Amino acid sequence: METIFAVAVDGPAGSGKSTVAKEIAKRLGILYIDTGAMYRTVGYAAQKKGIALEDETAVTAMLSDLDMKICPQEDGQKIYLEGEDVTQKIRTQEAGKGASIVAAYAGVRQELVQLQQKMAQAHSVIMDGRDIATTVLPQAQVKIYLDASAEERAKRRVGELQAQGKQADLEVVKQEILQRDDQDMHRAISPLRCAPDATVVDTTGMDIAAVVETLLQIITKKVQ
Ligand code: C5P
Repeated sequence: METIFAVAVDGPAGSGKSTVAKEIAKRLGILYIDTGAMYRTVGYAAQKKGIALEDETAVTAMLSDLDMKICPQEDGQKIYLEGEDVTQKIRTQEAGKGASIVAAYAGVRQELVQLQQKMAQAHSVIMDGRDIATTVLPQAQVKIYLDASAEERAKRRVGELQAQGKQADLEVVKQEILQRDDQDMHRAISPLRCAPDATVVDTTGMDIAAVVETLLQIITKKVQ
């Protein structure tokens, strides 16, 4: 395999990006970088500081001295906000919605994209998000666009919530997912798009193991 390489994984909410990317990172011994967690943390930080998510100027200004640390680990990634481990706290539907609002701001994207590019400089990575193949790592050796039907993505999300002992209505979750897709695909800066040179993998009806195997085959063919 090449000394340093990058795998970009993009796709809509709930397409299985993070679960699959985490497993692939483990199997290939490379870093897993979850960029969605960074946007979630920015939204969470704004709310914690009493800054309205709709206030672009204030949210962007907050970033200049925000103490956010991203620590890739063997079994995923930990994220700290002002010394507090917020890895789990940001995994709510609410935090996802907040992330989608602040992710539309140019200043926020500029700052986070720079950070993400720096993280991929010294290590081989598999990075997931919405704009990895198009903007963050356009030179990535492997580009994958993971998709699944909205129905299937909502079912997976409800399953995750149930595993945490939370109840959720499938139709409500599906509408939230569709709304987030719409927001992410239609924003002015770096909207969610499938890069022209990306391989599309539709994971509808596939289990995690099958998706992992499919992606590993694509990666090993491209990175020798
Ligand atoms: O992937 P995840 O659901 O954690 O992402 C949360 C939100 O962060 C997305 O809905 C999107 O608005 C934003 N995001 C982004 N660009 C990325 C990663 C996430 O705009 N690279």
